[in-house]
Amino acid sequence: MDAPDSSHLSELIALLPPGAVRTDAETMLEFGRDWTRLHEPRPLAIAFPASTEQTAAVVRWARAHKVALVPSGGRTGLSGGAVAHNGQLVVSMVRMNRVIGVSPADRVFRGQAGVTIKTVQDEAKRYGLMYPIDFAPTDTMQLGGTIATNAGGVHVLRYGMTRDWVAGLTAVIGSGEVLDLSVAVRKNNVGYDLKQLLIGSEGTLGIITEASVRLAAPPSETSLALLAVHTADDLLACAEQARRYGSAVLALEFWDNAGMTLSLGYLKRPPPSPVGGDSRWYLLGEFEGRDVARLWSLACQADRCCASALVEADEERAKALWQIRLKIGSSVAPYTPYKNDISVPVSALPAFLPALADVLGKDRAGERLVVWGHLGDGNLHINCLKPDAMPLPDFAAASRRVDDHVYDLVTRCGGSISAEHGIGLMKKHALSLMRSPPELAALRGIKSVFDPDGIMNPGKIFD
Ligand SMILES: Cc1cc2nc3c(=O)[nH]c(=O)nc-3n(C[C@H](O)[C@H](O)[C@H](O)COP(=O)(O)OP(=O)(O)OC[C@H]3O[C@@H](n4cnc5c(N)ncnc54)[C@H](O)[C@@H]3O)c2cc1C
Repeated sequence: MDAPDSSHLSELIALLPPGAVRTDAETMLEFGRDWTRLHEPRPLAIAFPASTEQTAAVVRWARAHKVALVPSGGRTGLSGGAVAHNGQLVVSMVRMNRVIGVSPADRVFRGQAGVTIKTVQDEAKRYGLMYPIDFAPTDTMQLGGTIATNAGGVHVLRYGMTRDWVAGLTAVIGSGEVLDLSVAVRKNNVGYDLKQLLIGSEGTLGIITEASVRLAAPPSETSLALLAVHTADDLLACAEQARRYGSAVLALEFWDNAGMTLSLGYLKRPPPSPVGGDSRWYLLGEFEGRDVARLWSLACQADRCCASALVEADEERAKALWQIRLKIGSSVAPYTPYKNDISVPVSALPAFLPALADVLGKDRAGERLVVWGHLGDGNLHINCLKPDAMPLPDFAAASRRVDDHVYDLVTRCGGSISAEHGIGLMKKHALSLMRSPPELAALRGIKSVFDPDGIMNPGKIFD
């Protein structure tokens, strides 16, 4: 891609309302990166369009001058997808935060791409409905960003991924054309489903500017239990007990002792009684039905697979318990974590967990490990924390060596090297483990149709 000269930038500034293109250092740093901290942000400028038309004008300008674009949402991504480290123009959706409306009859929310997931959830609640895509940074992550990453979260077990909830969308693709894929009916068999290609495309095909998502009826009553568990075998036995409750299981989340300690420190809270803070593992089960969590914890105690249990049916106290799980990510953030997000079939977990412990013991560089995730769907987040004294490049190289062992194990178990965070910059070196040469050729072919000049987030997912 060419570096645009200053007259090109003046032309862009003239295309957008006053103040919609910024180059001050603070904005460049804030909008030039996501939650990953392994690349130095170095954007050309940050553009803040407010409509689909303004976004299309930016893309056509970029195509004319061969300027690379980085679509940017809430910048909570964990794969470096929204990082502009190479002189790209960041196209931020923060000004595109208008709620277009909710249709309770269709159970559909429609909004601009920059609406936060918290806003979607709050709007749904006003109609007695819910949007089930849910995880920690709901007040920052955006509708467009979560669609572009096909985000998962804590309720995938019951409700599925973002892909399952997108009813329609509008996008400006790399050619500068607007695709209006907003027909939000359930039955719509009219050839290839182009919106599905944009879901999970990490900004490499186009910029999603508006979207409709389906809403669900919330569960009538829920209950929650936190179990303290001493061994990986017991963890899996407790998960197996939970599965007996079928679709009543809303979430099954786990974390290790290091995650418990860090999160409690972050929240400035004592260990929850009676489970305490000394167990090797913790397992949080959320269920539909007031009594199910209690029955589950009793069954686990009777089976001797859990050491102790805390059951919460009160909504506020249950929310406080959820915070321990949801704040683990924030609690590790100051330690420049190298994140690994993998999944294996649930049936492979009994073989996978002990093998993972062996693998993580290899090639370590003195970093601390924190492991947590969505055990119910076989999705583990393995985080290596950077030792203070270790330079960032050495830490990244050491972490990559751990990756190699983990990916080898994951692929042998029939799993995926990226469960929900995407490929971005962080995993493109390993994409060929998951994609055959014909698949890679097909991905590149699709990109060239949507983005003939390669201006959409180049260097992300693949080169
Ligand atoms: C504490 C924490 C916990 C998390 N937990 C989970 C979890 O449980 N499950 C999970 O799936 N993820 C999780 N994530 C990561 C997750 O991918 C992001 O939080 C979210 O999906 C990204 O949304 P965003 O708006 O912040 O997008 P960004 O980070 O801004 O962007 C992500 C990618 O999408 C592209 N993009 C953004 N907006 C658009 C758009 N409008 N059109 C086209 N492309 C666009 C960007 O170029 C980039 O490639 C977590 C992150 C954090 C920080």
